[in-house]
Amino acid sequence: MRIRAIGRIADRLTNRRATRIALALIAIVAGVALSARPAAAAHNGRHRLVEPAPPPRPIDYAQLTQEAATLLQNYIRIDTTNPPGNELGAARMLKEKFLADGVPATVWEPAPGRGVIAARLHGIGRHTKSIVLLSHMDVVPANPKEWQVPPFSGEIRNGEIWGRGSLDDKGPGVIELMAMLAIKRAGILLDRDVIFIATGDEEEGGRMGAGWTVAHESDIFADAGYLLNEGGAIEKRPNGKRYFAVSIAEKTPLWIRVTATGPAGHAAVPPDETAVTRLARALDRLDGWRAPLRLVDPVRDYFHELANLDGGPPQYRNLARALRTPEFVRKFTQDPHHDVLVRDTFTPTVLRAGDKTNVIPPVAEAEIDGRLLPGENPVTAMADVRKAMDDSSLKTEVLLNFPSVSSPRDSRMMTAIQELAAREHAAVVPTMIAGFTDSHYFRERHIDCYGFIPILLTPGEMKGVHGVNERISVKELGAGIRRMVELLELAGGRARSNEERHR
Ligand SMILES: [Zn+2]
Repeated sequence: MRIRAIGRIADRLTNRRATRIALALIAIVAGVALSARPAAAAHNGRHRLVEPAPPPRPIDYAQLTQEAATLLQNYIRIDTTNPPGNELGAARMLKEKFLADGVPATVWEPAPGRGVIAARLHGIGRHTKSIVLLSHMDVVPANPKEWQVPPFSGEIRNGEIWGRGSLDDKGPGVIELMAMLAIKRAGILLDRDVIFIATGDEEEGGRMGAGWTVAHESDIFADAGYLLNEGGAIEKRPNGKRYFAVSIAEKTPLWIRVTATGPAGHAAVPPDETAVTRLARALDRLDGWRAPLRLVDPVRDYFHELANLDGGPPQYRNLARALRTPEFVRKFTQDPHHDVLVRDTFTPTVLRAGDKTNVIPPVAEAEIDGRLLPGENPVTAMADVRKAMDDSSLKTEVLLNFPSVSSPRDSRMMTAIQELAAREHAAVVPTMIAGFTDSHYFRERHIDCYGFIPILLTPGEMKGVHGVNERISVKELGAGIRRMVELLELAGGRARSNEERHR
């Protein structure tokens, strides 16, 4: 079954004839209502014919957390290591979970064994822009020998759910799903629709996941205005102050293949230069070159906010000025996490040449993982790389690149996140991430995307992402669901009063 976008129906109604039919229908319905409810019609107010929705029922978060923990355990146990991904089983399991609660959900199979699932929770549609909750079902490989707990066991130990994907990105997917079910069960009526989309293939670039969805099934999110995805969480500064890190921008990949050629032959009688030596020298020259510093607005704002939280260092308050001082630049860029925020990077990762020690191969290849700051021109960046390698005989080609789009700092969704943060006396810090997520596919479709999952993440837990012993505490899983429900209420247009929330 295809999920139909409300926007489509509205589009059809813009046609004049359809409008007349619709008006006639409304008149008939109103007439029926008038004759049935004369007392209501006596009021002057425009909305007197509408029966108010019953007040929402309280949400039992303890029970919901248990249910979420069990769901996440089962989800982790479905091995979706990418490659090959094999997300179809996971997609079906999530679909069944939605259907059991009467939320329409659909699964697609973009390629044999691969999966995408979408579900829609209907609001009353007063706000036409719906909210997408995006996650990915595939995970990166895990070597059981390096883990304290088998990575696909989903075991609960010391109050934590262990397993590959518990944080990236199955745990967040469960939080999004359970928040939607909680809203449905409590009878909370939002003013807009909420769309759940879980894709595959994110860890390999998303072409068989989010890329496929955007290219082939864009009807799913045709009415979407906002999207929440991985990329940010609640973090703590060393002084204990908490902040909600929301990623509004990402660096964009410029993956390059460099090919060198040269004479083939027996390695006992080597020529002056071969494909391998030519490539090695070019990579060495590239390694000795650094892209110039460039400060983009989200990075400037990020450090400014950090200085506010920490009370320093004073240079962070005006990073543009500080970066004009060579002494500060040296110190600042010593931390690789800072360095990548203020310049493009180009890192050789794959090398391919001969496979026999005594044979000189005629071709040597390298792949370079380039990462560009938002707004960077990939053509100029390519020219810089070629200039740095300084060998006109090398062939270069682009393997992966897409336009870098940022999302606005100010929007209805950002305001909602700020209101949620304020309830916990925390600040919101917009960030740029050095990696990239599936958000770019949706940003290119003019949807405001925010990297934010409402769970507290410690630096130790973050090490588990793409690392070993990945795990999430059951308590934080529950807290994440509660915050997601509140965020959807805030962004969905129907925030309950404080009194109602604590009932
Ligand atoms: Zn991820």
